[in-house]
Amino acid sequence: MSGSSYQVRAYNIRHGYDVSEFLEAYRRLLQKAVDEIWAGIRWVEKHDRKGRKRLIPIIPKDSTFKNHYLRNLLMEGWDYSKHYVDSAIKQAYSMLKSWRRSYLKGKGRKEKPVVKRKFVRVKETLYTYKDGKIKVSVKPHEEYLVFDISKAWFLSRAEGELGELILGEKYLTVTFRFKRDEEEVKGKIAWDCNEKSLDGFSPNTGWIRIDLTKLFHIHRVYETKRARLQQKASKKPSLRRVLAKYSKREGNRAKDYIHKLTTFIARGFKGYIHGFEDLRKDRMLNGSKKHNRNISKSNWKTIIALLSYKSKVVLLNPKNTTRRCSRCGMVNAPKGAMYECKCGLRVDRQLNAAINLYLQMEGLPPTPSLFSELMKGWRGFTLTGEETDEGSDELKRSPKLMNPKSYISLSKTT
Ligand SMILES: [Zn+2]
Repeated sequence: MSGSSYQVRAYNIRHGYDVSEFLEAYRRLLQKAVDEIWAGIRWVEKHDRKGRKRLIPIIPKDSTFKNHYLRNLLMEGWDYSKHYVDSAIKQAYSMLKSWRRSYLKGKGRKEKPVVKRKFVRVKETLYTYKDGKIKVSVKPHEEYLVFDISKAWFLSRAEGELGELILGEKYLTVTFRFKRDEEEVKGKIAWDCNEKSLDGFSPNTGWIRIDLTKLFHIHRVYETKRARLQQKASKKPSLRRVLAKYSKREGNRAKDYIHKLTTFIARGFKGYIHGFEDLRKDRMLNGSKKHNRNISKSNWKTIIALLSYKSKVVLLNPKNTTRRCSRCGMVNAPKGAMYECKCGLRVDRQLNAAINLYLQMEGLPPTPSLFSELMKGWRGFTLTGEETDEGSDELKRSPKLMNPKSYISLSKTT
């Protein structure tokens, strides 16, 4: 992928208008559009791969329906600006398309979407922007809403041009669209996720180990708290709410941590493509208990999800990543922290997995010559980040660029 893409930044400003009547009218308009399109859906019977019968929805898209029938119907009794009808049609289609996608995946039911949230999408054709003031048309030539954003804090840092607005009961969301050149790809890093560390590997950087002990502790603290309450809760229902509160707090604290972590990775390794094992293809984590596996899996899932907003992420096949020798390709059954192979390689188990994932990203099978080639690339890296920066930001101190030579040994006999 190259070239440029649009990025959107959104900012909220509070407003003091009473727009509830207008928002409710728009909600009803949007629901009416959804109802009509829904009624026009054709259900076609098809057989899926397993031979089961399924009803496939065909959403009416032809211009006669969309631009004439539907538009005219929605215009009836609509006193506000006409462009809102077009907004509603567009929004109704996107709601039904996303419903269709999840229905086809087997996630959604054959149920008509219901518009609950009250907000209006204000397209560029419905407002003007001049001298720091946004003037939104509500009713043509008679009713306007004016929002003064000339003193808004974000104006100095917002770039690009003003895009769509979203009008809610208390807030107006202002978006800016700007073109961004896609960064040049500097390299690839493969990450092996573990309960207490994230181990990255790239020939440019060497072995990057990020300590996740703090994240592990967040879960442990709440685990202990919950265990204490769990027994009592079976007798006292009111305690269940306390338990739910703990779970929520645990989730929030973990997410907060992972937000900082992924921002750190995205900034620290700007221009890199990050590879992770695809969680949908489960792998056996050696010797770990089921419970621990679930916790690290949920962290891992969040790490991938949040990092993919900030960097380019690709998913890799987890098959044999921990068991295959990254030097000769032989599949072994590693025990403990060190990976040992008959070819003579002795390497940290996590690093071995990360190298395997890296090779997969490059589409290369492991060979001894490739392995020594990769070793050359790392020369010059030493253990850093340990003594430096005893500042307050723990994350800055935790990743370590390590010289793999200190962690890998090859016996001379083979
Ligand atoms: Zn080997």
